[in-house]
Amino acid sequence: MDLAARLAALALTLCLAAPAALAQQKANVLFGRIDAPSRERAEAIGSYAKGCAAGLVQLPETGPTWQAMRLSRNRNWGHPEAIAFIVDLSEFATRVGWKGLYVGDISQPRGGPMTSGHQSHQIGLDIDIWMKPATRLDLSRAQRESLSSISVRSVDQRAVNGNWTRAHHEILKRAAQDSRVDRVFVTPPVKIEMCKTARRSDRDWMQKIRPIYGHHYHFHVRLKCPGGNRACETQRPTVSELSKGGDGCDDTLMWWVTDYLNPPKVQKPAEPAPKRRSARDYTLADLPRQCQQVLAAR
Ligand SMILES: [Zn+2]
Repeated sequence: MDLAARLAALALTLCLAAPAALAQQKANVLFGRIDAPSRERAEAIGSYAKGCAAGLVQLPETGPTWQAMRLSRNRNWGHPEAIAFIVDLSEFATRVGWKGLYVGDISQPRGGPMTSGHQSHQIGLDIDIWMKPATRLDLSRAQRESLSSISVRSVDQRAVNGNWTRAHHEILKRAAQDSRVDRVFVTPPVKIEMCKTARRSDRDWMQKIRPIYGHHYHFHVRLKCPGGNRACETQRPTVSELSKGGDGCDDTLMWWVTDYLNPPKVQKPAEPAPKRRSARDYTLADLPRQCQQVLAAR
């Protein structure tokens, strides 16, 4: 074979091998280097912590009632329903005295696992919102990189601190009451405080407020799968959540204050926890097949 023929043969081999080789590459690297969404119908594909998204739209960097923070990360992309939700909640924030909302990460332009940070936020339906009330909406790009949020948790982690206000309560309640929202993750002291101060007669929404580690500088809103997104996997409630059907207030106190902050003195030696695979380990082949199409789409 002459050189040209050999090169042609090599190119053919590479072409045939490419899809399989691509599928074995790290999904977070592949999705992390794409800076624009796919021009497809908007669709969340897979689950919050293992998936991707087609046709995402960008939350405008600044709007009448919000600013997107940390623009250098390019994670202000969401399903149109997530963007609409942010606009609505930020409008509501102005009714309780804030200028609006400072919005943290949503998703990358095509969703997918990330090279840093979150395990979830992969399908355009998870939204981080800062606990720091927006006081002005003319922050420069540089200021939005350097400004920090505020924590609403006390140093001993038992309660909220002086940064927590009634406005926070109203905004979180509003988010939980929204029919598009599946759950809202907050630091346990926030849930404990909201349980104390919410009216007895008006707390159907309380079970959507979910206590979790961290989440004292921001709260995290997770939307349900939008209608018609058939490849989107909505998180199923756990059996205990279904059987209790309550507001989760007693459980939160028990878990956080009794079990976590004051564990019993005599403990059985802990079993080594099974090592969970991190989203950062996923290859493209681990994600739903449709994600290969999303990655390749224009
Ligand atoms: Zn989050």
